[in-house]
Amino acid sequence: MKTDTRIIHSGRHPEENHGVVNPPVYHASTILFPTVEKLEHRDPTKRKSIHYGLYGTPTTFGLEDALAELEGGYDTKLFPSGLAAITVPMMAYLKAGDHLLMVDSVYGPTRRFCDNWLTRFGVETTYYDPMIGAGIRDLFKGNTKLVFLESPGSITFEVQDVPAICAEAKARGITTMIDNTWATPLYFKPFEHGVDVSLHAGTKYINGHSDVMLGTATATEEAFPALSKAATEFGQTIAPDDSYLALRGLRTISLRLNRHEKTALKLAHWLEDRVEVERVLHPALPSCPGHEFWKRDFLGSSGLFGLLLKPASKKALAAMLDNMELFKMGYSWGGFESLILPHDPADIRTATKWQAEGPLLRLHAGLEDPEDLIRDLEKGFERLNQAG
Ligand SMILES: *Cc1c(COP(=O)(O)O)cnc(C)c1O
Repeated sequence: MKTDTRIIHSGRHPEENHGVVNPPVYHASTILFPTVEKLEHRDPTKRKSIHYGLYGTPTTFGLEDALAELEGGYDTKLFPSGLAAITVPMMAYLKAGDHLLMVDSVYGPTRRFCDNWLTRFGVETTYYDPMIGAGIRDLFKGNTKLVFLESPGSITFEVQDVPAICAEAKARGITTMIDNTWATPLYFKPFEHGVDVSLHAGTKYINGHSDVMLGTATATEEAFPALSKAATEFGQTIAPDDSYLALRGLRTISLRLNRHEKTALKLAHWLEDRVEVERVLHPALPSCPGHEFWKRDFLGSSGLFGLLLKPASKKALAAMLDNMELFKMGYSWGGFESLILPHDPADIRTATKWQAEGPLLRLHAGLEDPEDLIRDLEKGFERLNQAG
């Protein structure tokens, strides 16, 4: 079956629910067992049995199964936030005395978890250049247990040579984890490129409507038992209503992404020609570091990209951003609405240096009409120029 068909049919079992199309919302903690025998033995005919709310219900199993199928992994665990889908799996694969290789362009809170918490548990982190490729081998130590990738970086958009990094790690029995949030399970297939664990902030495109916090981690058959054990033993679970909403959002992800992609590309090309713009950081454009890997490995591009402006005063930037009509400022992305945020990546780098002189903007192209979005940006640049 092709992806678009799988998106519609995966994780659904109407025959088990009176013909109801969507898996219903099961609110459950206690599950009752009629006999001692049933209490002690799970149903061997089912891969996932229902025995306590924490471990899942048909609502969460539907979402897990759909995500594992779409991404091509063995199985999926759900987490109450994208960040929890990063930190808990890291705890699954690391222990005191181990060494971790972390990409320097990583999502800020992931970096803070390494610096503030993994250090306390005796795990050492080395940050590496996102463009390192097979050169990662020079950073391996005898105790290196995990390589963490994020491709592209969600603020600076470097696309990594994932197959080269994973091949080097695999040759030494080192586990690899990727934050695949930008591409979604549709536009990058991590398991085909040698990754062991793929995680998403389901908060973004998977749910897609800016109203749910969700994390997902999908693993190969070999890596899954440790992930599953950590998720349950750290008490990770998600609310049934959130699971329902995310699965509902997932059914339209292909349509939404296709539109995000088209609009983002339209904006990116328009921005390339603006005098205020130094460089557009969009993985599908040659001006983005690692564009060649995007071209080789990805099946599409999503709606999030960066914009390096020529040097501008804080006042001019505020004049632009404070009065946008459609591009609103706010954290997160992946919803139906357009967003814009200023960033300074210089603060969150250690292995590499952020060289840009002008400010960096991150744009999320929503589902509005692209002509209206362009007009909003055009007026923003007028304010920037007037105030500058
Ligand atoms: C938002 C985000 C996360 C964290 O997701 P939350 O659901 O907000 O915790 C992780 N990685 C990337 C790349 C993100 O953009």
